[in-house]
Amino acid sequence: MGEEISNKQVILNNYVKTSVKESDMLLRTSKIQLKIPSGCDGAVLVKNLYLSCDPFILLRIKEEHYIPPYKLDCPLIVFGVSKVLDSSLPNFKTGDLVWGHTRSEEYSLIKDPDILFKIHDKDLPLSYYTGILGMPGMTAYVGLFELCSPKKGETVYVSAASGAIGQLVGQFAKSAGCYVVGSAGSKEKVDLLKNKFGFDEAFNYKEEQDYNAALKRYFPDGIDIYFESVGGKMLEAVLSNMRHHGRVAVCGMISQYNIEQLEGVHNLLYLLTKRIRMEGFATFEHYHLYPKFLEMVVPLIKEEKITYVEDITQGIESMPGAIVGLFSGRNVGKQVVVVARE
Ligand code: NAP
Repeated sequence: MGEEISNKQVILNNYVKTSVKESDMLLRTSKIQLKIPSGCDGAVLVKNLYLSCDPFILLRIKEEHYIPPYKLDCPLIVFGVSKVLDSSLPNFKTGDLVWGHTRSEEYSLIKDPDILFKIHDKDLPLSYYTGILGMPGMTAYVGLFELCSPKKGETVYVSAASGAIGQLVGQFAKSAGCYVVGSAGSKEKVDLLKNKFGFDEAFNYKEEQDYNAALKRYFPDGIDIYFESVGGKMLEAVLSNMRHHGRVAVCGMISQYNIEQLEGVHNLLYLLTKRIRMEGFATFEHYHLYPKFLEMVVPLIKEEKITYVEDITQGIESMPGAIVGLFSGRNVGKQVVVVARE
């Protein structure tokens, strides 16, 4: 029997129909043994160091089966960076650092690790494995390069552009020689897009009365590639500004996550008349590309050709607030929670 210690957790208190509040999650302290119990073959026991706050969490706090809902009274399944304390799998050893699916708590017994990668390169900040070197990085890479095949000189529009994924899409598209415009919800974020991430142009969508007019201003000849993260009225405006044979990578639709009735979308006729390809994707179906992605992105980071902004909060207690903040745009960059130091 291993030592039993206390384990602070964020658990789901109730399902929501629209937006999530901090009180929909509860902090609880339970106990955990620092050894894998017998009968748990295939499990890995970890100490969580960084936990990632991602918009999909809200979709799992809803009972609608867009994606399988979380269980009530249980910690949330989230991405994180963790240290292995005990392992019954040959490919993970005590002391290894890993990233992937874990739970919103200090220590987790991961019974059936589906997404779990060993961290080999420890020269880079560990928190990056919740962002640029983890799921959001892969999402930017897959959506832009695999679905949209950007070519030099093409025009690219990125919504939610200053966030975990958007800031990378813009920088990747610039490195492919594209003209890139992003939108975000504050002046501070617009400044970041233009002055730190190297977008050609950026605008605050909250200050625009007419998205169609805004897009015409920045794309007088139309948009070749739209990296879609918000949906709703923005998608409608984009469709009427797309160029012939344009590509839309449907990464997310955050404007639809906290409303009860999904909105309809006008302008779909342009898919036909302009021969636009609009395709949704889920990053978890593309992890076979992770080594190829690392080969591209690690040198870019080490040579300082790409930059990454994180919004870091301290302590597992800060996690409910950090999750809620994603839906009002409180985060500036990738939202990460520090749970413990290595
Ligand atoms: P993020 O951009 O770091 O954070 C979310 C941002 O969305 C907020 O900071 C806010 O920024 C913006 N936002 C919130 N509500 C909005 C609304 N109603 N209209 C417009 N913007 C709104 O999040 P992320 O992790 O990079 O995720 C971006 C998108 O990718 C999300 O839609 C997410 O669900 C999706 N995603 C998809 C996959 C996949 O496998 N397909 C994987 C991961 C994430 P502003 O201040 O700019 O409003």
